[in-house]
Amino acid sequence: MVTDAAQPSAQSSTQSGAQSGAEPIIGTPVVPGVGYGPALLARGEVSKDAVGGFGDGGFADAEAALEAYDTAAAAVAEGFTAKAARASGAAAEVLNASAGLATDRGLRGAVRKNLRDGAPILEAVAAAVEQFAGVFTQMGGLMAERVTDLRDIEKRLVARIVGEPEPGVPAPDRPSVLIAEDLAPADTAGLDPELILALVTERGGPTSHTAIIARQLGIPCVVGAAGVLEIATGADVLVDGTTGSVVLDADPDDAREKVAAAAADREALDAWTGPGSTSDGFRVKILANVADGESARAAATGPVEGIGLFRTELSFLNRSEEPTVEEQAAIYGEVLDAFGGEGAQDGGRYVVVRTLDAGSDKPVAYATLPGEENPALGVRGLRLSFGNPGLLERQLDAIAAAAQSSGTETWVMAPMVATVAEAREFSAQVRERGLKSGVMVEVPSAALLAHQMLEEVDFLSIGTNDLTQYTMAADRMATDLSHLTDPWQPAVLQLIAITAEAGQQAGKPVGVCGEAAADPILACVLVGMGITSLSMAAAAAKPVGARLASVTHDTCLEAAEAALAATDPASARAAALAVLEG
Ligand code: PEP
Ligand code: MG
Repeated sequence: MVTDAAQPSAQSSTQSGAQSGAEPIIGTPVVPGVGYGPALLARGEVSKDAVGGFGDGGFADAEAALEAYDTAAAAVAEGFTAKAARASGAAAEVLNASAGLATDRGLRGAVRKNLRDGAPILEAVAAAVEQFAGVFTQMGGLMAERVTDLRDIEKRLVARIVGEPEPGVPAPDRPSVLIAEDLAPADTAGLDPELILALVTERGGPTSHTAIIARQLGIPCVVGAAGVLEIATGADVLVDGTTGSVVLDADPDDAREKVAAAAADREALDAWTGPGSTSDGFRVKILANVADGESARAAATGPVEGIGLFRTELSFLNRSEEPTVEEQAAIYGEVLDAFGGEGAQDGGRYVVVRTLDAGSDKPVAYATLPGEENPALGVRGLRLSFGNPGLLERQLDAIAAAAQSSGTETWVMAPMVATVAEAREFSAQVRERGLKSGVMVEVPSAALLAHQMLEEVDFLSIGTNDLTQYTMAADRMATDLSHLTDPWQPAVLQLIAITAEAGQQAGKPVGVCGEAAADPILACVLVGMGITSLSMAAAAAKPVGARLASVTHDTCLEAAEAALAATDPASARAAALAVLEG
């Protein structure tokens, strides 16, 4: 969704390091579209300067300090309650519980006692929280898990007391441009596209989860924009998710014009209704990446032919215990049901469920191993089943049960597969349950062994985010390595081409479900290499589908050849673009 022109705030401010008249900040563009509106800063911590400057707060007595505490606690609780009202299910429950904890009478009593004993307010709060954290930890179980919430509440209380915005993603009271150092998947997933006009992060690359979720929500997004945290809350910011520019001193008329032009472009793309094919009728499946039933149902209203990647682990990021098979089956069933019914089971619509990709950037408390030195190269994805086979078996049972009751054609694939033996063993377990089996190609070894992998499985799906990370030995989250974490890197393109070629020879489908599929130019190149399906955030389906529909299959073949001949990402892109637009 391209945002409408927001009304910039009346109290627009430029009192920051990013001064009016300064050069635009340039980051990595990840979701096209233009947003213009007041900046809303999400901070991880309360600033040390604000805490230092506040000192003891200069309250007349303990009662005056307690009053300040009560005001802060009420505001923190109100923030949680407002967020809960916009959330649903477990998320709403957690937020309501946090609202209760922020105004807990016992906690207030401990703060009052500390104040009356002469402690300055920030110390009184810290000591009270410490005391409660100790009690919760001793109680163990669910209460022990609430210590994290308690620490989060402490930061929010301190921020309110010293007069700073609360850390984390504040609830916007009007459409705003959200600026953050980086966002946790859970933070980003809760964003309301109606209220967030654009998203800018100082860290993160094009394959970070902030980028993935922003794309899913259709929010214009720029990542890796160094210096954006200097922008003051309330300052009007123009963000261009196509060029990566973040402009602080934009002329308001000019900015509104740009927003309107982006909206018009978007409208033109909206005319594309699928199914995916080149202009001369060469069919390519356009599929959606989803996280849960809600995103699947939303995707089903668009022009996609199914789900190419259901990231199951995203349903469990906040879980401390493994959900039962029945509970998992219900969660997976919601996604499968969105693509069941008419059109399913006839070679038309299908859903690819990925088994738990826990670990590294997506820790799941009940599955991941704590304390790994190098989690991206550690026990992640399918590897978790080596020491805990029941985890995978129960998930496969749940997927099979959901497939059975929904009647939806269900394919299942494993993440982080490196060897043919892994593919063989996984495939046997999936086929035993009557489902189609596949593996993701995310590790270079899997791409190089694509022929042999395809002897074991029914399909391959290339996860270009991780394939790029592991090919280039560059952390997908590292801002300063974003020139390496680029799927246009020649080595990555070569590995994709090898995999696609193996698929063509075996006569089996090879899709791309990483962020590369959402880049309309790269999507045409992938089709030229022989990729049979492109799976992306639902919001990217129209731009990709419309671009593909504008070129012939021969042009895609030529664009692929041109890109593969290049020796760096920029010239690969330029060469492909020249062919596609030539
Ligand atoms: C990928 O690595 O490209 C992929 C699709 O998986 P994820 O982004 O969830 O790691
Ligand atoms: Mg991956």
